[in-house]
Amino acid sequence: MKKVLVCGAGGFIGGHLVSKLKREGHWVRGVDIKSHEYTTTAADEFILGDLTEQKLVREVIDQPFDEVYQLAADMGGAGYIFTGENDANVMHNSASLNLNILYQAQLVGVKKIFYSSSACIYPAYNQEDPENPKCAEDSAYPAMPDSDYGWEKLFSERLYLAFNRNHGTNVRIARFHNIFGPEGTWTGGKEKSPAALCRKVAEATENGSIEVWGDGLQTRSFLYIDECLEAIERLMNADFIGPVNIGSEEMLSMNDLARKVMKIASKNLSIKNIPVPHTGVRGRNSDNKLIQQKLGWAPSRPLEEGLTHTYRWIAQQVDLAKNK
Ligand code: NAD
Repeated sequence: MKKVLVCGAGGFIGGHLVSKLKREGHWVRGVDIKSHEYTTTAADEFILGDLTEQKLVREVIDQPFDEVYQLAADMGGAGYIFTGENDANVMHNSASLNLNILYQAQLVGVKKIFYSSSACIYPAYNQEDPENPKCAEDSAYPAMPDSDYGWEKLFSERLYLAFNRNHGTNVRIARFHNIFGPEGTWTGGKEKSPAALCRKVAEATENGSIEVWGDGLQTRSFLYIDECLEAIERLMNADFIGPVNIGSEEMLSMNDLARKVMKIASKNLSIKNIPVPHTGVRGRNSDNKLIQQKLGWAPSRPLEEGLTHTYRWIAQQVDLAKNK
């Protein structure tokens, strides 16, 4: 049995990770500024508090945990990250909590710490062709992320690497590419595209239409939560510290993603592409060569399968909200 701390345990990935660690028999402390919205935490202890506050971080990291998973971040989908309105908060909150957590972790002698970076660190200039984006790990520099969220992630990656270099802190760094699944934000402005499209399809009346942002030809790939957790476990158990992509290489356009959701829902809807100020880069896909080589990992299931679980859960939430 390991003693584990999950920062961001009230969030989507953190919530699933806590459940997995508990199923495996570990002792888990979770911490988040909010409780989980969709599930009762399985953690042995759950501390509600703000990780940008050093005092709280000292209380939370009060012992040399076997593993710390640092998933807390001020984040959301394109409607949150690209408007420009949240940049100061995103950078200040996420950088502060990473500085606090990592400092305290090395002070008390945490044995291993995982940091969740993002595909958003990759340079915008390599993601202009929707059919041919470049996201190999070594293409991160010269840096030019397309959002301040991405810049903070890149700064924090470097922070974890510097602590590893100068203090011997045992770090692991992954760059997630669009992780999705049930029990994640699906409404309210912070939701990401798979959840937003599932909600729109679930809410649409038969033969109606749904809105897809931009021309819908921008491409992305999406990884189901269970696959992500398995890749994290492999990275934690390996000698390789990263940064490494954790994502899927099954790239498709946003219009095609919307069509997939409609097929799952058995709904015949039309797509209205609506202009929005920012949809992010034109193309993005995970490049899994490094993770395959270092960890022997690749996603094992098709996108459609995870999307089906996610659609069913979101359709249920839509029904529950309607009947409230
Ligand atoms: P999430 O927003 O559901 O979870 C993040 C959690 O951090 C939230 O519950 C939030 O309340 C918490 N948090 C934020 N500020 C805090 C603070 N000051 N003190 C305490 N808690 C605070 O997001 P997620 O999808 O679960 O993502 C987890 C991590 O993975 C994040 O670091 C995110 O940037 C990274 N990531 C996620 C994706 C994805 O597709 N989901 C992609 C790339 C990177």
